[in-house]
Amino acid sequence: MGKSMNGRIVNNYSSFDVVFTSGNGSVLTDRNKKKYIDFTSGIGVNCLGHNYGPLVKAVQKQAEKEIHISNYYNSDKGIEFADRLLLLSGMEGVFFGNSGAEANEAAIKLARKYGWMRTHGEGTPNVIERNTIVTLEKSFHGRTLATLTATGQDVFHPDCFSPYPAGFKTIAAGDYDALKTFDETVCAVMIEGIQGEGGVNLIDADWAHACEKAARDCGALFMMDEVQTGMGRTGNLFAFQTLGLSPDVVTLAKGIAGGIPMGACLFRGKAAGVFVAGDHQSTFGGNPLACAAGLAVLEALEDRGFMDRVEQVGERIRNTVRSWNLPCIKDVRGCGLMIGVDVDGSCGNAAAIQKACLQAAPKGLCISTAGKFTLRFLPPLVITDSLIDEGLGILKSVLTAFS
Ligand SMILES: *Cc1c(COP(=O)(O)O)cnc(C)c1O
Repeated sequence: MGKSMNGRIVNNYSSFDVVFTSGNGSVLTDRNKKKYIDFTSGIGVNCLGHNYGPLVKAVQKQAEKEIHISNYYNSDKGIEFADRLLLLSGMEGVFFGNSGAEANEAAIKLARKYGWMRTHGEGTPNVIERNTIVTLEKSFHGRTLATLTATGQDVFHPDCFSPYPAGFKTIAAGDYDALKTFDETVCAVMIEGIQGEGGVNLIDADWAHACEKAARDCGALFMMDEVQTGMGRTGNLFAFQTLGLSPDVVTLAKGIAGGIPMGACLFRGKAAGVFVAGDHQSTFGGNPLACAAGLAVLEALEDRGFMDRVEQVGERIRNTVRSWNLPCIKDVRGCGLMIGVDVDGSCGNAAAIQKACLQAAPKGLCISTAGKFTLRFLPPLVITDSLIDEGLGILKSVLTAFS
């Protein structure tokens, strides 16, 4: 990693040479007053865009009342947000953390304890340890050691961070034979509804159902990492609804509080009642400020017609990009406003196109990538039709230059 632009913030991100000072709606402004259309929304975090009135007001109001209390106590906003989230998701309990990795770490711990209870519980002979967590190739689950190990991409497992925790196994999405290998050593299977970081890979719904059934049949929990797909991204509040699945555990983060750091691990059925006092905790987790922001997000997402529009707008973007028939575009796919565009490597890699979009003038375009040859769009769910057209216009001229 090189030096970051100010030489002080660790440059783990190879950040671009841009300094943003403000944002409004789906437009960002940099230090030189240049404007950028935002098709990234902080990697799906700013689901309501920037400076969204009701969210800003909810945070302001809550900051004046109470920003944080210890989880030794309850807060009114914490109770209200948990109740609303559980009602809308059909889940029974929730653990609040501050990030996607933490939400998944909680799910992993929950799964391990669930497996342990099954083999070490009262009256159960301790024969075979049930502690393997199965995840998918090309998945992404976070950057802590356990969630990195769960991540099914070798590039995330360099030797320098070893040893990695044991008890993880990956299978390929779509591989029906792999489902037959699930046995009494498996405590959970965890999948993303659409793999975000791994390339905006859609998961076949029939296979996902078979995977859910295989997990259940072998006595394991079925868990979904909805850190990126959740909170309306796919045109439903959760991707498990889009796919018609009924996970025992669902993890959320990114858009959950519109930009205030928050993660959540939701559980139900067999997965409820596993965590007891002291099993898992977080100092900041679910503080009133984050919960007030989360409530403002749900309020907006529950608006009539909101989800239908996410679906329609996503469809329009995909159709528009396909209609260009540019030789450098190999595939366009996605669901709702989670969209991937594969580019032909002979035209340039995704990072080069991403950079050219950012540097476009007079206005730039912020897009994200997922792997070497996939452009990823995660615009604010509230992006207007005219800004979509303007953003796509910038993308088209950049891609035409690359073709
Ligand atoms: C971003 C992401 C994570 C990690 O979230 P952090 O908040 O960066 O820890 C985990 N899973 C998925 C599917 C993600 O997209």
